[in-house]
Amino acid sequence: MNSFASPNPENLLKDKALWRTGAFINGQWLNETAHGKYSLKNPATGEVLVELPRCKEEETELAIQSAQAAFEKWRKTTAKQRYEIIHRWYQLVVEHKEDLATLITLEEGKPLSEARGEMDYASSFLQWFAEEAKRIRGDVLPAPKDGQRIVVLKQPIGVCAAITPWNFPAAMITRKAGPALAAGCTMVVKPASQTPLTALALAELARRAGVPDGVFSVLTGNDTRIIGGILTSHPLIRKITFTGSTEVGRTLLEQSASTIKKCSMELGGNAPSIVFDDADLERAVDGVIASKFRNTGQACISANRIYVQDGIYDEFSKRLAAKVATLKVGNGLDEGIEQGPLIDLNAVEKVESHIADAVKHGASVLCGGQRSHLGGFFFQPTVLANVTAEMAVTQEETFGPIAPLVRFKDDDEVIAQANNTDFGLAAYLYSKDAARIWRTAEAIESGMIGINTGLISNEIAPFGGVKQSGLGREGSHYGIDEFLEIKYMCWDGLLTG
Ligand code: NAP
Repeated sequence: MNSFASPNPENLLKDKALWRTGAFINGQWLNETAHGKYSLKNPATGEVLVELPRCKEEETELAIQSAQAAFEKWRKTTAKQRYEIIHRWYQLVVEHKEDLATLITLEEGKPLSEARGEMDYASSFLQWFAEEAKRIRGDVLPAPKDGQRIVVLKQPIGVCAAITPWNFPAAMITRKAGPALAAGCTMVVKPASQTPLTALALAELARRAGVPDGVFSVLTGNDTRIIGGILTSHPLIRKITFTGSTEVGRTLLEQSASTIKKCSMELGGNAPSIVFDDADLERAVDGVIASKFRNTGQACISANRIYVQDGIYDEFSKRLAAKVATLKVGNGLDEGIEQGPLIDLNAVEKVESHIADAVKHGASVLCGGQRSHLGGFFFQPTVLANVTAEMAVTQEETFGPIAPLVRFKDDDEVIAQANNTDFGLAAYLYSKDAARIWRTAEAIESGMIGINTGLISNEIAPFGGVKQSGLGREGSHYGIDEFLEIKYMCWDGLLTG
């Protein structure tokens, strides 16, 4: 590995109590289990950051039972009480933004500037859903019969389990916990085994904010299948909310079927980015870079296939490659770094295999194309030209820093190509012609469309995919519905006494 190692990462935090080294169950820190520990490594340096306890059956059961006990009380709190606690949590997260961002960079690798951006995004869900707690409305509907009244209540679904990925260690948790707690649900979180430190710091801040014991628990460990198996089959868990790969999502859906759990799935993507002849080229180049190279390409809504129209293909490729070649690669804790490492060796090898496959089938490398001289999991930001639909790089989610450029001639052709995938999470369109954008946006099969921008995520908008990219929506005023059940009461005899 390289020479970035910091001997005592804990010392990088201003508030040392945010460096948590145990699971958080029922309001207690559990620093040991009977199952030993596993090592967590910094992807930028390879150094062991910490050893964390492995949770298995007993700890998962304890977290679920305590979440059920807590639910009985939490569901009875008023919306205003829940607002106050979640809002206090939001304030503490904002106050400790720098420490949380440092934890993200240490365990996930993204540059500190991006980690700060993630913290703004992550905290926005706590703020938004604290407020939404007060806006859970029922309904009174016109009854079909004289003397009848139809009343609709919204009630919390119960104990929820969240299983989250490593690429956004804070935001993928607050985007689930915010609405769940606001709705009156309790939650057991199993963060990615590669990024639990941010989750544990969030739990510490939840505790300080007054989130009652058992309302928010975090399991640590790498016995993922055991924990996941229990969470998806336990009768007390009423809802699974998952963000991660489509493959794992499918398994969790299958496992959840035996107890018919409500499931939300935020899964993989294969986002097309379409740059039309009449696009503002500078804007399109910047948009593609923002969407493609954020988090070293490790985002589900990352532009995975970049379709560029014939008339501007050469100019666009030239400008994009020139800018991408200047992206500064290094340890995310260092000033001015724009590209951190990939998460692990598997990720590096996948990027390499996609480049090799593309080059073998006729693509050319405009910049990058190789592992970085920094070694470890660092990879050069890469632009590939002459990419075609047959190559793995356009068919699979690369999850790495490769921008593959595909040439297209007309609108119908590119819409057909963009839709030729099992995924449907995000898409991006660049053009100055509003009618053309509208026609294309309506025809594209995806849950979200960025128009003349590569940045589309915020707490106000509904985030989610169609086809095999997922089920349900997170964020926005729609997001809380995933944690609520509708109960309808048919009242009769009300007017006759
Ligand atoms: P992953 O391998 O599917 O893992 C996600 C989570 O699932 C982790 O906590 C993982 O635990 C857990 N997991 C894995 N196998 C499991 C099993 N058999 N039972 C229960 N849990 C299991 O995905 P990832 O590599 O972390 O994240 C990358 C993927 O997430 C990409 O496909 C990306 O597109 C997708 N993603 C989607 C969104 C969205 O909003 N749609 C957002 C971000 C990422 P361990 O860490 O312990 O293995």
